[in-house]
Amino acid sequence: MAKRKKIVVLGATGSIGLNALDVIRTHPDHFEAVALAALRSREKCEALAAEFGARAYVGEDASVRAVEESDADICLVATVGTSGIRPTLAAIEKGMDIALATKEVMVMAGELVTGEARRRGVKFLPVDSEHSAIFQCLAGADGKSVDRLVLTASGGPFLDAPADLSSVTVEQALNHPRWKMGPKVTIDSSTMMNKGFEILEARWLFDVPVDRIDVVVHPESIVHSLVTFTDGATLAQLSPPDMRVAIQYALTWPERLPSERAKLDLAELGSLTFRRPDPVRFPCLRLVKEALQMGGCATAVLAAADECAVQAFIDGRIGYTDIARSVEDCLANAPKIPCDSIEAVMESARWAASRLGFT
Ligand code: MG
Repeated sequence: MAKRKKIVVLGATGSIGLNALDVIRTHPDHFEAVALAALRSREKCEALAAEFGARAYVGEDASVRAVEESDADICLVATVGTSGIRPTLAAIEKGMDIALATKEVMVMAGELVTGEARRRGVKFLPVDSEHSAIFQCLAGADGKSVDRLVLTASGGPFLDAPADLSSVTVEQALNHPRWKMGPKVTIDSSTMMNKGFEILEARWLFDVPVDRIDVVVHPESIVHSLVTFTDGATLAQLSPPDMRVAIQYALTWPERLPSERAKLDLAELGSLTFRRPDPVRFPCLRLVKEALQMGGCATAVLAAADECAVQAFIDGRIGYTDIARSVEDCLANAPKIPCDSIEAVMESARWAASRLGFT
């Protein structure tokens, strides 16, 4: 029997963390959870740690401590928002491969973390279904043979809603038609900011310039993304919409392990549909490209502003369309800061938070 992979799970009590633990529970001969970290859910984290014979870490610095005090092969980063950056850098420093679910790590500090990973010979194993799909389609091919990466998007709950989304409620925004996820990422999916983050994530994970990364709306969420190669061939990865397929592959790569999950039946589905995203309804896709053109830490401002604005919307302090408006306001006024250190990233994030009244 091959040696069991030791895994640290950051964000163990969130939806990705729980699904990852489900994969680990199903394959005890292959995986061992050695440390679990959670920001707040102490009882839940400790109960899971007891079940897996892992150490539990809870609180603000839980993720960094879990990494620093563990020896592991893989660190699954599935924390919420900006809190994933420091523990990711710590895990890279310790030579752990990074199974990455927290998009903000690449969105805010992509240049920094991919540079560190190269230096340490550490791999990124995408957990997001779209990036897992691209990772599987590329199968080790380098960027030179890639013509385009095509990210699919479910379109969220407002794909066919009236164009004026200003009166959307928190409940409506949290009602995602395909995926059951935490509140932040569910709201980001409804605004398509989540897809914008995925463009940035793909840019850094696969080292493909953004003008060669497209988004296509695909409400059935069966095709998880595609790669078009320079010779005109396009490869796609398909599976029923269950995030555990991508989570499991991140942990088993380069092998595959059997699962009991439902397999794809195309004849049963009958048809799959695709369309272009509506730029008026979903201004966040444009904001992401503008942030990229600004360069420096602008994408960190974008992500931090979005994190604060989504929280303000959930708390009932701003309306739904104010989310994109708040992000746009921050980008228009952001100081120019080169993105050369974690301090610069965090300073940009703090600037956006204080502009939006979060200090
Ligand atoms: Mg995704």
